[in-house]
Amino acid sequence: MKTLEKKVAVLGSTGSVGTQALDVIRMHEELSLCALSAKNNVEAAERQIREFSPAFAAMADPRAAAELMLRVADTGTRVFAGREGIAEMIASCGADVYLNSVLGFEGLFSTREIIKTGKTLALANKESIVTAGELVLRAAKRSGSAILPVDSEHCAIHQCLRAGEHREIKKLLLTASGGPFYGYSPQKLEKVTREETLAHPTWKMGQKITVDSATLMNKGFEVIEASRLFDVPGERIEVLVHRESIVHSAVEFSDHAILAQLSLPDMRFCAQYAITYPDRLPGRTEELSLAEIGALSFARPDPVAFPLLALAYRALADGGVYPAVLNAANEEAVHAFLDGKIRYPEIAETVAQVYESAKPLSVPLTFKQIYAADADARLAANEVIRRLEIQERKLSR
Ligand code: MN
Repeated sequence: MKTLEKKVAVLGSTGSVGTQALDVIRMHEELSLCALSAKNNVEAAERQIREFSPAFAAMADPRAAAELMLRVADTGTRVFAGREGIAEMIASCGADVYLNSVLGFEGLFSTREIIKTGKTLALANKESIVTAGELVLRAAKRSGSAILPVDSEHCAIHQCLRAGEHREIKKLLLTASGGPFYGYSPQKLEKVTREETLAHPTWKMGQKITVDSATLMNKGFEVIEASRLFDVPGERIEVLVHRESIVHSAVEFSDHAILAQLSLPDMRFCAQYAITYPDRLPGRTEELSLAEIGALSFARPDPVAFPLLALAYRALADGGVYPAVLNAANEEAVHAFLDGKIRYPEIAETVAQVYESAKPLSVPLTFKQIYAADADARLAANEVIRRLEIQERKLSR
């Protein structure tokens, strides 16, 4: 009998997708955790080490690593510190699959280190592909690393594409829940609060991506991600608002056949698919009953109310460092919004201003240029945010 046993390393194990990936490992005895990494959540990391007994653990923050080392000194887990420690752990832990669920642009570092091993990368960190997709995919091709998307839409498309050849693809149909503000007018969007923005109707996710789902920036990033991963130009990627979050995306083939992947919205499904591919392990999450769902609906997104979606298509067409600029400006703007420094419509305003002021760079790119563009865009974004804050104070006086 063929064995499906796999040793898994989870990078970013204390975040939303990370803990759900551990849930998948917990539910299947064929899977074991051999390594984990986190930024600085020592308590959660200790709990995970005590439950899963991985051989290795790493903390990006060296102080947190020192504390974790003391706390788990009685276990057999070896603790690494800082970026070099994470790199060393990735190189030496011997995982069959690395799941990268590190938050934000920082995740590009782990992606690059994982690809060097030539092993499978289950990728939940979409920023790696959005900001440096061409470079990452080229490096993966060279080392033999397979990249399996954990993002639900791309996980769905990956499954649908098993039904046909690349040359037979007509369109990718990327579904979007539409977020909490579907159907809102730009006027109504002027007044939405932080709390309303964080109330996502269907998915359970971290705060940053929940805001990105409300602005449709997340869907824009996913258009770029899909274009890079599946080598399909933006003109042939269509976003469809699908409120029920049951159809996770679809592919239209040249004969007009549309194949879609359906399941309940649960990231554990995607993590399991990416970890166990090309096999499927029995599902341990809830089963979808189509009869209970009854009806599924589809609509076009409103480009006026959600300008960041159109800006993402533009960044994809502009290429070069533009997707990295878009990502960096948005990360800064969303954090400022979550900190109460700017209002909801000012997220898109900040991102647009930074985008327009960015200097174009000719391809081919290097990782160094991507990091430089990221740093410049963050500085520019914080200048815009400061200006908006001063304006706000004057107005409220
Ligand atoms: Mn997604």
